[in-house]
Amino acid sequence: MTPVTYFPHKNNEMFVEDIAISTIAKQVKTPFYCYSSTAIETSFQDYQNAFSDQDTLICYAVKANSNQAVLATLAKLGSGADVVSMGEIRRAITAGIPADKIVYSGVAKTQEEIEYALSLGIFQFNVESEPELELISKVATSLNTTAAISFRINPNVCAQTHEKISTGKAENKFGVPISKARLAYKQAASLPGIKVQGVDVHIGSQLTNLAPFEEAYQHIAQLVVELRADGHDISVIDVGGGLGITYLDEIIPSKKTYADMVKAQLGHLNCKIIIEPGRSLLGNAGILVSSVVFVKTGEERQFLLLDAGMNDLIRPSMYDAFHQIIAVNQESNALKTYDVVGPVCETGDTFAKARQVHQSDAGDLIAIMSSGAYGAVMSSSYNTRMLAPEVMVKGNEFAVVRKRPSYEDIIKQDITPSWL
Ligand SMILES: *Cc1c(COP(=O)(O)O)cnc(C)c1O
Repeated sequence: MTPVTYFPHKNNEMFVEDIAISTIAKQVKTPFYCYSSTAIETSFQDYQNAFSDQDTLICYAVKANSNQAVLATLAKLGSGADVVSMGEIRRAITAGIPADKIVYSGVAKTQEEIEYALSLGIFQFNVESEPELELISKVATSLNTTAAISFRINPNVCAQTHEKISTGKAENKFGVPISKARLAYKQAASLPGIKVQGVDVHIGSQLTNLAPFEEAYQHIAQLVVELRADGHDISVIDVGGGLGITYLDEIIPSKKTYADMVKAQLGHLNCKIIIEPGRSLLGNAGILVSSVVFVKTGEERQFLLLDAGMNDLIRPSMYDAFHQIIAVNQESNALKTYDVVGPVCETGDTFAKARQVHQSDAGDLIAIMSSGAYGAVMSSSYNTRMLAPEVMVKGNEFAVVRKRPSYEDIIKQDITPSWL
């Protein structure tokens, strides 16, 4: 799936499935996020097909896009959820994902969160440290129940991705170092309220190459053999998420190629495989639609000043991420070079520098592609800008799946103290 697969131009006009983007923009006003339901479904089914010959549970990584419409779409197809907070557990359950398909990751789960997850009976905790293990044991014992656990293993592998989304190196805060794994499992087996169930690994995000996965899974396979020799009953391997997407021209291994590699590395161990894809399910299923407010001619550059900013989509400012920027209406076929920027009072509020875009004027619609994952979920109302609404399209229907708040909604969250 490329960024434009589900957002094609027909007669110089960008569509999402069977609806013109401009039709939605008229009703919803810009900026807004727009998702293709078919893109999400197809992507999920690609994973199902790729893993059809392995005992697999797909646990969608909720943090990539946690809208109820997205979760319900995936729940209907049988997806589980990989969650990292009590809030995400609540979102997953509310959208219809059963508790026994939920795996709970995260480095700093609190007692309250652990209690909640245990009371629901989730599939497993992916434990990231010894102190967390002790807390889970304590809470499970006090609730008279047992927590199924995997340790998240840090295999000290370089994921060859942006440093802010690399998680599997020794210097990262994630997981238990592989050198300490056997000791950690020994401790787990000795603690009340804990059932050792599996092994988990997640080395990073936006991986464009299978080699780091392969290296990590080799270490995990070796570890499973050792753990079994130590007497642990290991029946689950959670291989994490992280498969990348094409933002510009990255060539990403297919889901089938990835699945075959997982089978080659881990198949002989006869474990249930859990996968936790996020970006690769949602990234290219969504765009951020914005309007040009002004075209400004600077001393050296032309700026397209948009009504969407870094508060709506922070990836370019935070990770230097590249997103294609495409004019929705392409009747003029002249290309011009622009710096594409938002309205926020920060120089970092820049989507692209010296980028070729179809010549645009104030009022024209601009699509920022590949924004379905880590877009809306990372947005804020910085500069008291309202969170952009989210729209989902299916065929020739669309629905606003999160509406734009009002200024009153935002301001009334503050409380003026009585002494003022
Ligand atoms: C973020 C995350 C994922 C999903 O990563 P993607 O790159 O979006 O596929 C999966 N598992 C864990 C533990 C994560 O933190």
